[in-house]
This record gives sequence, C-alpha cells and structure tokens, in this order.
Amino acid sequence: MQKIYLLDEEAGSAESLAGYLHPYGYALHHFSHPVALLEAVAAAPPDAVLIDLELGGNADGGLAVATALPRGDDGRRAFPLLFLSTRQDFDARLLSVRAGADAFVARPVDVANLVDRLDLLTQVNPPEPFRIVLIEDDPLMGQLYEHVLHRAGMAVFRLADPTRALAAIHDHAPDLLITDLNMPQCSGLELAAVLRGHEAMTALPIVFLTADDRISNQRSAMNVGGDAFLIKPVALADLVETVRARARRARQLRSLMVRDSLTGALNHAMIKELLASELARSQRSTLPVSFIMVDIDHFKQINDRYGHPVGDQVIKSLARLLQQQLRRTDYIGRYGGEEFAVIMPRTSADDAYERMEALRQGFAALIHHHEGKGFSATFSCGIADSAGGAAEALSQAADQALYAAKHGGRNQVRLFLSEQQTGSLS
Ligand code: GH3
Ligand code: MG
Ligand code: MG
Ligand code: MG
Repeated sequence: MQKIYLLDEEAGSAESLAGYLHPYGYALHHFSHPVALLEAVAAAPPDAVLIDLELGGNADGGLAVATALPRGDDGRRAFPLLFLSTRQDFDARLLSVRAGADAFVARPVDVANLVDRLDLLTQVNPPEPFRIVLIEDDPLMGQLYEHVLHRAGMAVFRLADPTRALAAIHDHAPDLLITDLNMPQCSGLELAAVLRGHEAMTALPIVFLTADDRISNQRSAMNVGGDAFLIKPVALADLVETVRARARRARQLRSLMVRDSLTGALNHAMIKELLASELARSQRSTLPVSFIMVDIDHFKQINDRYGHPVGDQVIKSLARLLQQQLRRTDYIGRYGGEEFAVIMPRTSADDAYERMEALRQGFAALIHHHEGKGFSATFSCGIADSAGGAAEALSQAADQALYAAKHGGRNQVRLFLSEQQTGSLS
C-alpha cells in the first residue's frame, strides 16, 4: 500500500475519498490540522501529500502549509504534493504551481483521474526505459554516445557493424535506431533502405549521425524515411533530447495501434497473437499458461440506468484494477465491449484462480458514481490453463468456464473442468 496524507478540514469527504482509493492500493491518512500533518510527515514520510487549497475558510489557506513541508538539501521535497480545490480559476492553478505542487485536483474529485496522477507521481508503474540500437563504427564516438544515452536512463545496444543490425533489432526490439552515415560495410542510407524494406520495421524511427553536413545528404536521409539528422560533433544534450522525443512519440503511436484507446488494454488481435506465442513458449518449458476471460455482470442494466459514459467509466475502472494488481508479465486485453482477457504466463489455473478471486472481491467493493450517488458492479470470470496446444481450444475452455460462472449466479470465478471431470463431479 502507498501511504497518502490528506490535510482537509472536512472529515466526511476524507472518509469517502479513503474508501475510493483503498482498492487501488492507496491508504489515505486524514489530518484536520496542519500541525498534525507536519508531525506525521516528520515521523513517517508519506508517498504523497494532498492538501485542501481552501483551508481555514481562506481561498488559498493551503499554500502556507505547503511552504512548511520539509525539503532536502537540494531544496526538493522527498514526496509529491497535490492540491485539492473547488476553485476553477487560472489563479488557483498558478498559485499551486508556484507553491511547488505537482498536481492540481479539482473538486468534486474524479477518482479515476486522481489515481492516474498518483500512479504517475508515486511511480507505482514506472515506464520502461527507452531501448535504443546504436550503430557507429568509430569505437570512441560509439562509447561516448552510449554513455550519454545510458546516463539519460535509456537501454543502449551498441554495434559497430551495420550488417548485424537486423539481428540486433530482432533481439532487442528497440524504440529507436541511431546510425552513423559513413561506415565501411555499407552506408547509413543503405542500411535505412534495407530496414524500410522490412514490413515490421517501417515504423522504427531512425536518427542519422554524420560529419558531412551537405544538404543533399540530409535530403537523401529523409527520402529513405530517416526521422532526424544530427551533425557531428553532436551536442550531447541535443542527442539525448532528439532521441528521447522521437522514441517517446514512436512508443505512443505503437501503443495506439495495439492498444484500446478507452482502457489502454491490448486489443483483441494483439491478445490472440500473444496467446499463440505464449502457448508455443510454454510447450518448450512445459510450464502452463493460464487464459482468463472476464465479463462484467448485467452491464446492459448499468448502461440503461446510468448512461453510456458512466458505463465507460466502469469499464475503465476494471481495466485499471487489472493493470494495477496483476504482474508486469501478465497481458491484459480488452476482448470486446465489457469483456477482458488476461494471459498469465508460467501460471497454473489454480494460481490464476487465487489472483482473480482477489480481484473479483476488489472490483465488487469499488464504488462508482452517478449524479452524486454510488453504485457497485461485479464481474464473472472463467479460467483455463494449458502447456502448449492450440490457442483456440484454450480460449474456448476459458469461455466455457465463464459461461458456467454466469449460469452459476454471476459474481464468481470458475475453472474450466473437462467433460470427464465434470462427469465425475456430478
Ligand atoms: P451478462 O454479461 O451478465 O450476461 O449481462 P450483460 O448485460 O453484461 O450482457 P451483454 O454482454 O449482452 O451486454 C453487454 C453490453 O455492453 C451491450 C453493449 O451495449 C454494452 N457495451 C459494449 N461496449 C460498450 C462500451 O464500450 N461502452 C459502454 N458503455 N457499453 C458497451
Ligand atoms: Mg563512421
Ligand atoms: Mg459480454
Ligand atoms: Mg456482461
């Protein structure tokens, strides 16, 4: 659990906020007085602090408390600070920025949005470092660039020989490729043309490095689908910024293609592809893969009662819960409207059951909102596992288990039982 301190004079709203945040892994500790907050911060540092901006009936009463929060020798706080406010004006946000706040949360609090902010600020799900393949035949320059990019937090795979680029890209699945233009085996332009000839590599950003600043060269680089052109000697800060910006953008675009825009979960096609490859892998290792189908119960009624946008929020909250509570190595996909699929590699159905049962309870305990009133929702879940075999058979088995969960009364998790097992049970 992440520890969040809240300074707010209204105990009622603090209590309900604590209830909303708890299922997402945030324990909210409420303080009504600034002194109590400051003492708690000194005694046990929190993962984040939330302060009501309009403290003490003053439009910006929270600011004074913010300035009293402890700072390190470098003048920085050891934890993020967020202001809560009913104020809509630009001034309120400006004051909050000037007080060094990391976020401004408007009241009434949109819980999904607040959890997003907290996740980001407390780094519950830190982003993977950018992966860069660097091709440079000059070892000194290559080492220098590698060092600088590595210091900027990127994972760099360096090679001197461009003819090994395809294998390196295959092995390291980079977000971006940097290549020198002049190399003995082939030129950087030729290399780019080779890569662009591969369908799978059409989207890979390519940054060229060269000592030759002729404009004709740059034009050729753009013609083969180069994304940027840096002239040696490259200012190292430029190198880092160019690479980071393009890698980030490439990753965003790629995630749009394989991810569902409402939930950020993988799309149906991607999950099917991953299931096939995980099954192939499990056949080699003989460890089982679990495939899990999740379907929200009576979702039509939720839409009918509260409207489609509220239905969307419920779908999003389920996606978020799955993303937060499952392992990084699990794959989460949106299979259809209110249906999700999860792949758990190296996990037996019994182990998957434990995890999904905990998630089922967590989801059922979530409070969703509609016009100031709260309601809850549930899901049903079917699980099957297999070591090797066909993806189609495994997903059918999970679907059959889901069907059994629905018919057994919903709000439950069921394991797939083969006909023989079912027979022996009845
Ligand atoms: P149960 O699964 O418990 O049998 O009942 P259900 O009401 O959930 O059944 P069903 O799967 O037939 O209904 C799903 C509904 O979800 C139908 C569709 O209108 C709605 N839906 C599908 N996609 C979306 C979406 O993206 N947003 C919203 N709000 N609703 C969606
Ligand atoms: Mg060279
Ligand atoms: Mg359905
Ligand atoms: Mg349903």
